[in-house]
Amino acid sequence: MAFHSGRHYLQIPGPTNVPDRVLRAMDNPTIDHRGPEFAVLGGEVLAGMKHVFQTEGEVVIYPGSGTGAWEAALVNTLSPGDSVLMYETGHFATLWSQLAGRLGLDVELLPGNWRRGVAAAAIEARLVEDKAHDIKAVCVVHNETSTGVTSNIKSVREAIDAADHPALLMVDTISSLASIDYRHDEWGVDVTVGGSQKGLMLPPGLGFNAIGAKALEASKSSTTPKSYWSWAEMLGPNAKGFFPYTPATNLLYGLREALKMLLDEEGLDAVFARHRRLAEATRRAVRAWGLEVFCANEDEHSASLTGVIMPEGHSADGLRKAILDRFNMSLGSGLGKIADKIFRIGHLGDFNELMLMGSLAGVEMGLEVAGTPHSKGGVTAAMAFLSERRNDSVKLSAGRPITEKQQEQQL
Ligand SMILES: *Cc1c(COP(=O)(O)O)cnc(C)c1O
Repeated sequence: MAFHSGRHYLQIPGPTNVPDRVLRAMDNPTIDHRGPEFAVLGGEVLAGMKHVFQTEGEVVIYPGSGTGAWEAALVNTLSPGDSVLMYETGHFATLWSQLAGRLGLDVELLPGNWRRGVAAAAIEARLVEDKAHDIKAVCVVHNETSTGVTSNIKSVREAIDAADHPALLMVDTISSLASIDYRHDEWGVDVTVGGSQKGLMLPPGLGFNAIGAKALEASKSSTTPKSYWSWAEMLGPNAKGFFPYTPATNLLYGLREALKMLLDEEGLDAVFARHRRLAEATRRAVRAWGLEVFCANEDEHSASLTGVIMPEGHSADGLRKAILDRFNMSLGSGLGKIADKIFRIGHLGDFNELMLMGSLAGVEMGLEVAGTPHSKGGVTAAMAFLSERRNDSVKLSAGRPITEKQQEQQL
C-alpha cells in the first residue's frame, strides 16, 4: 500500500468517521460491569437511546453488529414456521429476508423496484388477501443503504391499519438512525433495529432493538429458541443499568459521548437538517457532472448517502479504485445486482460542509483520472448551494429536554 499523508476519507455509508472526542471517550479503563459506576453508564445510554429512537418503550443494546439486531427482532417475537412479509427495496432488505429464512420463518419477499422505496399499497393489498392473518410480521428497511432510497414508514403503518391486519411492523434503521428523522412511537413501529457504526458515529460493535408494547407482548408467546438475543434476559438487569453478560463497556463510553453530541449539543432536528442539506448539495454536484442519481423518486432521496449511476460501459469499481489510489478516499460499491454499475457517496455521521467538499472534489478528480465521461462543475454547484443557504432554521424539540443554560446558549 502506498503511503498517504493526512486523513483517509471514509465516505462509505457506514462505518462512518468516528469523532476524535468519541475515540478519546473510549480510551479509558474498562470498569467492573457489575459495579455502581457501570450502572450509571448503562442507565444513561439506555435512556439516551430512547430519545434517538423517539420512543418511551424499551431499548436493548447488544454487543453485536446490525445483523445480530436483525436476528434479535425476529427470534424474540416470532415462532418457527411463522409467515413474514418483507419488501425488496435492495440488497439489505434481501439479506434480512435470507436471514429470516435461515431461522425457519416462512418468508415472502415482495418484489420491488430498487430505485424506489416501499410501495405501501402493495403491502396493503397483500395483507387484505391474508384473511386468516397468517402473516405475523411486516419487515421493511427505512433507509436502503445499497441504493440511497428512504421509504415512508408512516405509509407502511397506515397500510397495515387500512388492511385491519394484526401483523407486527419491524423496521431496519441501521443507516438512518440519528441521520434521518425516525419516530418509533409516533409511526406505530413494533420493533426497530439499529447499529452503532453509521449515524451514531461509533465504531462497529453495537446493535439495538427498540421494542414497542405489542412486540413485548408477542415475545411472551414466541417459541423460537433464544438465549444471547433474549429480550427477557436483557430487560431484567437493564432496569438497573446492568447487562446479563459482559457488555461492550468501552463502546458504551463512546455511545455516551456521541449521545451528548447528538442530543444535548447539536439536537436531533439540527442533525437531520444538516444531513438533508449535505445530501442536497451532493445531488447538485452529481447532476452538474451529468450523472444520474440512482434514487428515482424526488420524495425518497436518502439524506445519509447518494447512489450514483455510472455511464454505460464504465466501471464503478474502477472509478472507486482510482479514487482510493490517487486521493485516499473510500466510496461505497454497488451491491448485489447493481455491483459495478453504481457507486455510493456516504454523507452521514460526523460530517460537515468542508468534508463534503473534499469528498466531492475527490470524486470530480477521480472521474477525470478514470476517464469517466462527465461535465465539470459538480464541486462548483455544491459550493454555490452551500454558501447561499444555511442549515434550515431548526427548533430543538427532538432531543433531550434542554436545560435553561443550554437555552441561553441557543439565543
Ligand atoms: C449496514 C447495514 C446493515 C448491516 O449491519 P451490520 O452491522 O453490517 O451487520 C443492515 N441493514 C442496513 C440498512 C445497513 O445499512
